[in-house]
Amino acid sequence: IRWTEGRGWHDAQLVPYAPLSIDPANMTLHYAQSIFEGLKAYRQPDGGVATFRPQANAERFQASARRLAMPELPVETFIAACDALVTQDKAWVPSEGEQSLYLRPFMFATEVGLGVKPANEYLFIVIASPAGAYFPGGVKPVSVWLSEEYVRAAPGGTGAAKCAGNYAASLVAQAEAFEHGCDQVVWLDAIERRWIEEMGGMNLYFVYRAESDRKERIVTPELTGSLLPGITRLSLLQIAEDLGYEVAEDRISVDDWKNGNENGGLTEVFACGTAAVITPVGSVKSTRANWTVADGQPGEVTMKLRRALLDIQTGVTADTHGWMHRLG
Ligand code: PMP
Repeated sequence: IRWTEGRGWHDAQLVPYAPLSIDPANMTLHYAQSIFEGLKAYRQPDGGVATFRPQANAERFQASARRLAMPELPVETFIAACDALVTQDKAWVPSEGEQSLYLRPFMFATEVGLGVKPANEYLFIVIASPAGAYFPGGVKPVSVWLSEEYVRAAPGGTGAAKCAGNYAASLVAQAEAFEHGCDQVVWLDAIERRWIEEMGGMNLYFVYRAESDRKERIVTPELTGSLLPGITRLSLLQIAEDLGYEVAEDRISVDDWKNGNENGGLTEVFACGTAAVITPVGSVKSTRANWTVADGQPGEVTMKLRRALLDIQTGVTADTHGWMHRLG
């Protein structure tokens, strides 16, 4: 679907996957007006197909567009475009358990010119790719590197938007994580380099167990404006509450994490996002200290939440919150 200033959205087309040709002066290549989303379509037990919370992705896409001075795509148009592609590619939606069809809606400037300004033409596209189970051999905890030198986003920046530039800026820290033998980078806040923000491509959750009544309390870093408001994060706030846990959005510092780990109050840490759903965090490395999270194995609460979410997505349990968007 194209957008042109003065004309709005026009020319929706469903076409076979093919390369695009790009002008060397295309403004996206120079000024990075480029935003995207990621969501999944799951096969349902009756053979039908459903996407998970496309409305939430559509709304986040609008928020990203506003932050990058791009036109907002109507929510219905975003969902209709995803529906059209999934309907066309229905045969590609796997029918095995956790497998899915991953959808990648994205929008970028198509105006040609060298002046820095919001473009007057954009293209919105959705592509799809079958996604296997993230952990085919069983859920495996990841090791994380706390990035102290680099930050993903600063207050007033684009951290809450899902824009291409955020990911370009994260690559050097991800490479640093690999150099330290870690799977993923964990971002800290830009000002104090003290508060936990999120992991590369996933939000984080911390599980505490009170000494007094052994009741679990589940905490996720609050949305400060510099981390991505994940849809999996949002869904887990609800699911955890449904399962009877005490849930909160709060600030969590590196010291809280380290001390909670040492005194046994912090029992589990996991990351969540569309791609892996829920991934346990097994160990932490930083310039200051290294530690293993509890016993380094996937925790009980982590696995319970993971099962509950996947069961909703794959239609095994009832969709009591109206999150699944059925396509027949
Ligand atoms: N943080 C970042 C930086 C991400 O790229 C993603 C993936 N979209 C997430 C968090 C998790 O968001 P969601 O649950 O919507 O996939």
